[in-house]
Order: sequence, then C-alpha cells, then structure tokens
Amino acid sequence: MTERMRELTDKLITGHSLEENEYRELICLRDEESALILQKEAVRLRKKFYGDKVFIRGLIEVSNICKNDCYYCGIRKSNRLCDRYRLTKEETLSCCRDGYALGFRTFVMQGGEDGAFSDEFLCDVIREIKVLYPDCAVTLSLGERSRKSYEKLYEAGADRYLLRHETADSEHYARLHPKNLTLGNRMECLRNLKEIGFQTGCGFMVGSPFQTSECLAKDLKFIEDFKPDMVGTGPFIPHKDTPFRDYPAGSTELTCFLLSVIRIIHPPVLLPSTTALGSLEKGGREKGIIHGANVIMPNLSPTDVRSKYMLYNNKLSTGAESAQKLEELKKLIRGIGYEIVYERGDFMNAECKMQNAE
Ligand code: SAH
Repeated sequence: MTERMRELTDKLITGHSLEENEYRELICLRDEESALILQKEAVRLRKKFYGDKVFIRGLIEVSNICKNDCYYCGIRKSNRLCDRYRLTKEETLSCCRDGYALGFRTFVMQGGEDGAFSDEFLCDVIREIKVLYPDCAVTLSLGERSRKSYEKLYEAGADRYLLRHETADSEHYARLHPKNLTLGNRMECLRNLKEIGFQTGCGFMVGSPFQTSECLAKDLKFIEDFKPDMVGTGPFIPHKDTPFRDYPAGSTELTCFLLSVIRIIHPPVLLPSTTALGSLEKGGREKGIIHGANVIMPNLSPTDVRSKYMLYNNKLSTGAESAQKLEELKKLIRGIGYEIVYERGDFMNAECKMQNAE
C-alpha cells in the first residue's frame, strides 16, 4: 500500500468523509491491503450498529411494463422480446401472505414505470397490505413520480422508497438514458421523497458503460451529502436485448470495495447485498455481507413471472419462496458468522443506536 493510500484510508476512517478528488484517488490506488483495512472497519461499524443481524426484505416484482427506455435495462420499453406482465392487487397480496407466513416483515413492491399504476390503484394495494399486516413495512421502488403522487403513497402507508440515482455525473447519466430522463429530475424526486418522510434509498450500478473513477467519486460524495437511509449498489450486468449487450459486467471486487467505503461514509445505512452481486458469481451475496452490507432481498414474486422480470441476463431467480429455501439462506448466512432476523429493520432504530453509541 502506498503512503498516499495510507493517508486516505486513515482520513476516511477517522472523518467519514473525503474530498471528491480523494475518493477518486482512493478508488484508483486501491490494492488488497487497503481494501482489507477498509473491509475490517466497515465490518466493525456494521457490528456496532447492527451486531451480526442481516435483515430480509421480500421483493415482489409487480410489473415489467415500463414507459422508459434506459439503455442498460432488460425491461426497457423498446425491448420487444420482453414478455410483459402486471400483477393484480390479489396476486400482490397473495405474495405478501406467503411472505408473511415465512417471517418477512418488509415487502418491496418493485417494477417498471407502468402507466396502469395510478395513485388510486397503488394506494389501495398499500392500504390493504397495511390493514392485513400492520406490523410490516412497505417499500416502493416504482421509479419517478410527481411530488403529489409520492405524498399520496406516503399517506396511504408506504414507509420507504428506493430510487437509485444510477450515477451522480450528469454527462454519464445522459449516456445511460434517453434525453427525456435527466439527473436533475431524478435528484428532485429523491429530495421530494426524503422531505415527505420516506426512508429513502439511492444507489448506483458498478461498472456501467462509460463509468469512470470520477463518476464513482461523485456517487460517493453524493451519498456523503444526501445521507440516504438505504443505498442499493450492485454490478452492471449486460442484457442481450439492450443497446449495452456487448459491454462487460462490473466486478465483484470493486462492488465489495465500494460497499465497505459506503458503510464507512455513512455507518448506520441499510445496505443490501444485491441480487446482481449474487448473480455475478456464486457466493456473491455472502461476499457483500462480509464487506459491510446488512440486508438481503429474496424474491417473493410468483414463480411464473420471475423469468420475465429480467433486468439483466442470468439474474438469480431463486429467492426464499419456500420455508426450505429460506432455511438454506439462513444456513449460508450463519456459515459466514451472521444471523438472518425477522424484524422490520428500520433506519430510525439505527439512528437512535448511533446516539447511544456516542
Ligand atoms: N423502475 C424502477 C425500478 C428499476 S429496477 C426505478 O426506476 O427505480 C431496479 C434497479 O435495477 C435499477 O435502478 C438499476 O440500477 C438496476 N438495473 C437495471 N438494469 C440493470 C443491469 N443491466 N445490470 C444491473 N443492474 C440493473
């Protein structure tokens, strides 16, 4: 490890902050030794706030119909080969019922920007989930909507919202999305969500086409400033029916390095070890956990739609749909020294813990 890298890791560990240019250096100069130092610190911090707990969220992929044309995404509007579906209210509730019986206490409704998802429809589903399972958190991941719409969803009972910013560099953003989608609007949505009171999650892909260390440095600085409650970060993986079919996937190594850095920047953050990380290589999700992640999001979608929600190729489609699968996951996690718990796992609790720890 270089002298400079020693300085940077020390500064990050003591101050939870670096200048944007220093984040870039940290990424460029990283080596095995420095990665290990940051991993150890990330694990120390996650244990301080969360012990050995790993929270589980039941992911329900409610629709793969989308009006957007993001160049990286397998369910983009222009992909004619995508076999489209939308879950009914009853189908969504049935996923919750199965998930609840398995012990899940958070349901994540994720999907494309489907025009049929009116505020009325979504509020009705959210209210029903909250009536049936008042001890559960509802997380939404349904893309960009108006402030008014977000307000209605919040009033209906939704607790959390995941909206990855995808990249904090506006030029890079423009190379990943068509013109009608802008970083400015994405950020405006994130600010609205936070102001309204949602536990809010941003995030980005690692190794997306045209991404540079400058882009990643901006992502890290944005996380430092925005202080999101959750950060979703996983490797980019190409999908064969998108414009980015020929670009290489992001690496497990850099993703895990960044997970450790994010944990250090914002210690109480809820940090999933993503499906994409698990899809890239066997044991990927476990690697994420030992680098500082503390959330896993198994799939609760009906089995017949899973292969249709293909954001990228070779997506891990087994989840915890059965008691047996969940037992297997628990065993894997126990094998690396952590414990899956059945709590809601809210961010607020962590903030209180931070005050107690100080
Ligand atoms: N429509 C919602 C949900 C999008 S899917 C929204 O706009 O937020 C959830 C995430 O999957 C995206 O935010 C993106 O970061 C990720 N994703 C999409 N395509 C991907 C790919 N090819 N490789 C890796 N991650 C991808």
